[in-house]
Amino acid sequence: MTDAKALLVGIDGLRIDDALRPGAASYLAEFLREGSHLPLTMEVPTISGPGWSSLLTGAPHAVHGVFDNSFFGHRLDATVDVLTRAAAAGRSTFAAVSWPPLADPAGPGPVLAFREDDQRAGRHRVVIRDGEVYGYRHADGEIAAFSRLALRDAGPDLSFVYLGEVDEAGHLYGGDSAEYREAMHRVDERLGRLLAEVEARAATRDEDWLVAITTDHGHLDEGGHGGADEVLTRSFLGLRRFGGQTLVESAAPVGPTDVAAILLRHLSL
Ligand SMILES: [Zn+2]
Repeated sequence: MTDAKALLVGIDGLRIDDALRPGAASYLAEFLREGSHLPLTMEVPTISGPGWSSLLTGAPHAVHGVFDNSFFGHRLDATVDVLTRAAAAGRSTFAAVSWPPLADPAGPGPVLAFREDDQRAGRHRVVIRDGEVYGYRHADGEIAAFSRLALRDAGPDLSFVYLGEVDEAGHLYGGDSAEYREAMHRVDERLGRLLAEVEARAATRDEDWLVAITTDHGHLDEGGHGGADEVLTRSFLGLRRFGGQTLVESAAPVGPTDVAAILLRHLSL
C-alpha cells in the first residue's frame, strides 16, 4: 500500500515576486512551474509569530491569539498544530526550525506542541537551532542538513522545515538589496537539496509525497514588515506531488488557515 507523506517548507520573509525573477531562486521556480502555485494573502499584522501560528494551526489571529513575537496572551493550547493533529492519528512527525519560538518550549510560544512523550517514543523528532544567536545562515545550514538526513533515513509522515536567513537579510539590508537576493539564492539551494531527497525516496519506495512551500510575509524595500502593504501580505502556497499522481489542485487562491487542512487531507486526515 502506498504511504502518503507530506513536507511543509517554510521560508521566512520571502518576496515571492522577486523569487520568481529569472535565476533568483531556480529550484523554487521549477517547483512552482511543475506543481501548483496558489496565491495566498497573509493576515495583518504581517509578523512571524502570528503568521506561522496561522499557517501551522489553521486558525486566524483572533483565534490563536498571537499578535506579535512576544506571544503574550496566546491561546495556542486550544489550537492544535498540524503536526500534533497528524500525530493524534498515529502518524510520525518531524520539525526542524532555526527560529526557536516555533518549537522550543523554553521560550515564547511554541507554535508546535513539544510532545515530549512522542519524542521519547520515537514518533516525533525536533531539531532547533537559534538563528537569532548564531546567525541564520549557519543555523539554516544545520536545519537543512538534519532535515535531509531525516527525510532520507526516517521519512516521517509529516515534516515541517523552517529556514530563516531570507528574513534576517531583509531586516539587516532591506528587501531590495544584494544581500537579500544572495540569502534567497542560498535558501533556494537548501530547498533544492531537500527536494532531491524527497524525489529520491519517491522514486525508490511506494510513497506518495506532497511537498508544500510557503512564506509568512514579504519585506519592505528598506527592510521590515508587519503592515498591510501588498509586498508584505503577498504569500504563496506551492504544492507538488512526488511519487503519486500528478497534483489535481486548482490555482485558486487560498488563505493562511487553509494550509494545515491541505496537508492533512493528503494524509487522509
Ligand atoms: Zn517572518
